[in-house]
Amino acid sequence: MSFFKKKDDNLDIWKDKYFKLLDTQEQFEKDQKANEVLLCKTIVRFALAVKGFNQALDPHLERIRDLLKTGLQRQELKKELDIFSKALMVMEDEANSNHLDASLLFDFLEKQYPSHLAELEAVHQQYVNREINNHQRLFLTLAEILEEKHQGQHDFSAELALSDSKLISQQLIRLLENADLPDVFSEEGKQLKSRLQGGLSLVPGFEDAVTLLLSIKKHMLVEQQEMADFLASLTDDLANLGLKASGVNMANEDAQNKRTSLDSDLTAQMADLQRKSATATQVEPLKQLIGIRLHKITQQIQSYNLKEQLEREKNQRELRELVQQIRDMESETLELQSRLDLAQQRATRDALTNLPNRLAFDDRLTDELARARRYGSFLTLAVWDIDFFKYINDTYGHKSGDKALVIISKLLSEHCRAADFVARFGGEEFVMVLPETDGKAALNVVDKLREVIESSGFVANGKRVTITMSCGLTQYLDGDTSETLFVRADGALYQAKQAGRNQCTLV
Ligand code: GH3
Ligand code: MG
Ligand code: MG
Repeated sequence: MSFFKKKDDNLDIWKDKYFKLLDTQEQFEKDQKANEVLLCKTIVRFALAVKGFNQALDPHLERIRDLLKTGLQRQELKKELDIFSKALMVMEDEANSNHLDASLLFDFLEKQYPSHLAELEAVHQQYVNREINNHQRLFLTLAEILEEKHQGQHDFSAELALSDSKLISQQLIRLLENADLPDVFSEEGKQLKSRLQGGLSLVPGFEDAVTLLLSIKKHMLVEQQEMADFLASLTDDLANLGLKASGVNMANEDAQNKRTSLDSDLTAQMADLQRKSATATQVEPLKQLIGIRLHKITQQIQSYNLKEQLEREKNQRELRELVQQIRDMESETLELQSRLDLAQQRATRDALTNLPNRLAFDDRLTDELARARRYGSFLTLAVWDIDFFKYINDTYGHKSGDKALVIISKLLSEHCRAADFVARFGGEEFVMVLPETDGKAALNVVDKLREVIESSGFVANGKRVTITMSCGLTQYLDGDTSETLFVRADGALYQAKQAGRNQCTLV
């Protein structure tokens, strides 16, 4: 019993387990169905969302959507997804490179232009090797080869299969789409494209394509030349601007600072222009841009020059006024100087004889004494006095006396040495300082001079009058001052007078 009982128990357990599993399985299937429905809905929605993004992919998406509407049919869906994936991969390849399989186009060209076979093959090889890697260049290279040959009509007699003709048309369309046509040819390019798409027979289509290529090439050459000319004139303009800018005269620090800021402004603008010129592909917009910039730069320079000119004119005006003031002051100074000179001369010269006066003598004797003291050099002082001058005045008149004074002054100054100094001490007395001269030598000098005066004489009232002079002289001795020296010389003069006049006495 116990066995059956045990057996029954086991059976219940398995039964339970089985039902549980069934439940789980049922739930799993329900979930999966729901997931499938969700997945289908998602893919359908996704396909709807991306519809129109790419025309090549749209038919594939359409088919996938239709398949999914009736549920998930794995086999068909897998097939359709494989086709879709391949289409995607082809697109990806095309996106990575614009390169086309142009072999049919080259076959066609080689048949039409057998004389250019080698050149066309070389270009084809370059294209395959990606040495020519854009369609613009391919266009131009082909145009160059075909240019000569394209004089007049071609014999496009080679028969082409319809499918080849279509493919070549397609390749031409792709080339047209990929080439960066200049704006002026875009309409022509569009028309040719639509004619090729509309199933135009290949030969006239091709003829038109070659004509278009040649026109584009010609246009590009003209544009290139225009660009070169324009850049050359731009360079001239910039050079002129540079000259104008550097020709501005800098007067002061302020102007220098303004100039530096103008320079950096211009440099920045020119650098910008150069950058834009280098990257520009079309002349007209570049011309306009550069025209505006040059106008702006010119205006800046003109306004700077105007300001600078006004400032310069103001500075020049101020400078002229300043120069005038300096001139006025100079002439005033000159006048003062000459007045001062005159006053000084009057103060140190004797008006009648024009010899240095007593004041000048005092100064000079002080200087010479100091020098003799310092260097231990000789110095002799001589004092002169006209003999019986009172008698001359009294006999011939005061004017004749004056005349005699003038004559004697001349004789004294003309017959002494350049280093000697003669002055009118007062009345009919004269003094003479003889530097670097001892008493004996001085005595020789003055005695000769005395003889000259005696022999000269002068004419008064029609009569020849002899004038004589007496002279006392003394040599500088240690401890002498101006006064002691003069007193001694004056003493010597007294002795000369006492001894009978018309003689020189040395003490
Ligand atoms: P001695 O030989 O002793 O010197 O006799 P002296 O007549 O020359 O001496 P005295 O001193 O008596 O006379 C000097 C005269 O010189 C007196 C004065 O009128 C005259 N005298 C001084 N200064 C001038 C002057 O500037 N012009 C004229 N014409 N005479 C002058
Ligand atoms: Mg006298
Ligand atoms: Mg006298």
